[in-house]
Amino acid sequence: MDPFGRHIDYLRISVTDRCNERCLYCMPKGYKGWAERADHLTADEIVRVAEKSTDLGFRKFRLTGGEPLVRKDIVEIARRLWELPGVQTLGISTNGVLLKDLAIPLKEAGVRSVNISIDALDPDLYRKLTGGRIEAALEGIGAAAKAGFEVVKLNCVLLRGHNEDQIVPLVKFGAALGMPVRFIELMPLAPGGPIDEKNFLSVADAMKLLSAHDVLEPDPGKSPGHGPARYHRLRNSGALVGFIGSVTCSDFCADCNKLRLTSDGKLRPCLGRHGEIDLMPALRSPTSAAISAALEEAIANKPEKHSFDEDFEVERPMTAIGG
Ligand code: SAM
Ligand code: SF4
Repeated sequence: MDPFGRHIDYLRISVTDRCNERCLYCMPKGYKGWAERADHLTADEIVRVAEKSTDLGFRKFRLTGGEPLVRKDIVEIARRLWELPGVQTLGISTNGVLLKDLAIPLKEAGVRSVNISIDALDPDLYRKLTGGRIEAALEGIGAAAKAGFEVVKLNCVLLRGHNEDQIVPLVKFGAALGMPVRFIELMPLAPGGPIDEKNFLSVADAMKLLSAHDVLEPDPGKSPGHGPARYHRLRNSGALVGFIGSVTCSDFCADCNKLRLTSDGKLRPCLGRHGEIDLMPALRSPTSAAISAALEEAIANKPEKHSFDEDFEVERPMTAIGG
């Protein structure tokens, strides 16, 4: 339990701060990487931290980045995590661009749930927002649909002035594939770029836009994949839609169950507060007691809520934290 009575059993592991896309809201302009590649955790170190975390009751794990699929040993990391006794769910968050060839190996390695980012279906807009090719992301989504994962969800960051008109097409696209789409509020985590607070679109506004097309009804069922989204179902189309009100929902942090591990070996109790605990000294220690102590310290340091509404100043951009 953390100091606010929350049961912390979910470790989100960033395996790299690098990415093959350049999303305007995630990666600062001219980003060259946060840490030297040599400072990235090795597969052995990642598995060691995960193993110690299971001793403390962690059961849910998600690989993220940056783009986790750019790491050559991503399938090995997934397989070794899944083999750990105590690991009950293993997910991965990806932009999907490399998923065409990796969906089946990841499924076979033990990955249960895949979140794929797609902020627009319009190819030009997709390129403008991400710097990437939508064809590759769509191929990846198609491969994930066929690979037999337990859950595949689509993620879309809401961007006023950019992708409001993509909301309905994305929901229809997801529903046709049986994939819920989750709409995420923009968090101030990529400074100095063309996307800023004027582009903020709340989940309440997105719900209003969707309500003009169909009736949105709260879906009280268990959320697929244990995430922070609140789900609704569209009455006529039956589509399941998730809303992640990270900024505007006052109770957003109330059931936060996560710690984050950055690719350069820092434990982060909260995405929206700066505190970090350096795990590297513990990882270099011959015994594992120091790793457990660092994990316990991170749990004890979890703040009650993020500070996005308190003149939050970015230190680490999103791509270097791990979303
Ligand atoms: N590269 C992978 C991807 O795009 O899914 C995994 C890492 S990415 C940082 C994880 C999630 O964070 C994605 O869904 C992305 O859209 C979201 N994200 C990135 N920057 C964000 C921001 N400033 N506000 C809200 N969500 C953001
Ligand atoms: Fe890369 Fe994902 Fe960030 Fe986009 S959101 S730049 S795909 S890490």
